[in-house]
Amino acid sequence: MNVYDAARMTDLLAQEGYAEADREEDAELVVLNTCHIREKAAEKIYSELGRLAEIKKERRAEGRNIEIVVAGCVAQAEGELVMRRQRAVDLVVGPQSYHRLPALLKEARRGARVADTDFAAREKFQTLPAPTRAQIAARGVSAFITVQEGCDKFCSFCVVPYTRGAEISRKVEPVVEEARRLVDAGVREITLIGQNVNAYRGEDEAGRATPLEGLFERLSAFEELERLRYTTSHPVDMTQGLIDAHGSLEKLAPFVHLPVQSGSDRVLKEMNRRHDARHYLDVVEKLRRARPDIAISSDFIVGFPGETGEDFEATLALIDAVGFASSFFFKYSPRPGTPGAERADQIHEETKRDRLARLEARVEAQRRDFNAAMVGRTVEVLFEKRGRHHGQIAGKSPYLQAVHVDGGEREIGRLRPVKIVAAGPNSLSGEIVEALELA
Ligand code: SAM
Ligand code: SF4
Repeated sequence: MNVYDAARMTDLLAQEGYAEADREEDAELVVLNTCHIREKAAEKIYSELGRLAEIKKERRAEGRNIEIVVAGCVAQAEGELVMRRQRAVDLVVGPQSYHRLPALLKEARRGARVADTDFAAREKFQTLPAPTRAQIAARGVSAFITVQEGCDKFCSFCVVPYTRGAEISRKVEPVVEEARRLVDAGVREITLIGQNVNAYRGEDEAGRATPLEGLFERLSAFEELERLRYTTSHPVDMTQGLIDAHGSLEKLAPFVHLPVQSGSDRVLKEMNRRHDARHYLDVVEKLRRARPDIAISSDFIVGFPGETGEDFEATLALIDAVGFASSFFFKYSPRPGTPGAERADQIHEETKRDRLARLEARVEAQRRDFNAAMVGRTVEVLFEKRGRHHGQIAGKSPYLQAVHVDGGEREIGRLRPVKIVAAGPNSLSGEIVEALELA
């Protein structure tokens, strides 16, 4: 979502006469779009700001300036504290009010140090300018559209409900319009995004609440659009309608990112996840019934307060039971203002580290097996860019794996059958074949 937000801010500032600088040394304005989800991400910002403050000092000595803006969720959570901790910051703007950037910059130029952290998500989507064809084309053939923002779930470890605000869904028509513009400018894959994207209920023209699969149906009608994806989903919002869409909508990729966090019912309850391990396994089973080749990925947190060795074993058992295509895994990071951070039974850092290493070994082995099983199969690859080596192009399989082949740039933006010949640790390689003998 930060990638999407950064693109929108770029479009907005382009209207004000700004162009993207290739190198920081050339920039007159630097916007740090920040993440507050774990402590490490948030703290990184302050070291980056220290570096920018030095640049600002040097520039001032030369009679020039560099304006420094902190945007995103650290801006939202820490607001004026950011400006107090680093005097060089001119402006702080939250993720729901960045549409006001041009006006706020003007205010900052008049000498005020401004912090805008209003929750104005609906206003934001209504006022953001559309990107130009050239801007869209420069960003490649795969694009994001935010359709849902915020979260009402309040998992006890998570800052999102506080930094992104309450759950809202964009209306259907503006999303379809945004997609139309993307497809007209050459986009061939769209990923619909939201903190809980499958909680999407956007109003259509007649005022009816439309679920995510309704949006997919509308977008499937764009002939030149090859693929649709979505992320991130919550297991309790995985409705039968959305599951069925995986069986019926050809363009919907057979891949779901479905974070489970833990395999222990006790921990899931304390995390306020609102489901147990059985529910998760049932959803996976239903997805596989609807689309047998579907690949599932997940997020895991190890070392949530009170997590016992037995709880951790339950997570490993769930991993074995599901068989994930890939996963993200994190050590629990206590976040200020969340219930988890208040608990006295925090897990020792060393235990967290050990558990993370064991979990990583398990999910990485599954990822390797999943990739190795592709060798010999023919899959459709959407080519996105030039490869690292001369004469190579790179794209993604339906299951979100990176695939390299020898091929010409004219293939970029096309969906082509590729026979996979080898599986490396991070990508597959293959050759373009004429016919798709899906196996
Ligand atoms: N809405 C999604 C869901 O319900 O699964 C997750 C969104 S969150 C931005 C992305 C991931 O960050 C989570 O799935 C979780 O694994 C991880 N995360 C969130 N808060 C965390 C924390 N305090 N410590 C460690 N990881 C955390
Ligand atoms: Fe955070 Fe996701 Fe839980 Fe919402 S559902 S509080 S975004 S982890």
